[in-house]
Amino acid sequence: MKNQYKKLTSHGSVSIPVAMRRELALEPKDPLELEIKEGEVHIRPYNLRCQICGETSRVKPIGGKGICYACAYAAWGTHGGFKDAGRTK
Ligand SMILES: [Zn+2]
Repeated sequence: MKNQYKKLTSHGSVSIPVAMRRELALEPKDPLELEIKEGEVHIRPYNLRCQICGETSRVKPIGGKGICYACAYAAWGTHGGFKDAGRTK
């Protein structure tokens, strides 16, 4: 995704573009974690949200995106589950 440029409001707020919110499955009022690293502000979701169902519990990051246990299990099942583990098609 291309870099986005935003201005800080007089209250210190900055809006996250809708494309970025969709990419991270961010919903209004979701908590965010802010960190200063080498003079930069890094913002990340405090609780990852599943990209498929929107769940926030039992979510793990894969490639920077969240997937919950239920969706990972369902996805795994569509690929044959454990009986095909290790095979490449
Ligand atoms: Zn899910």
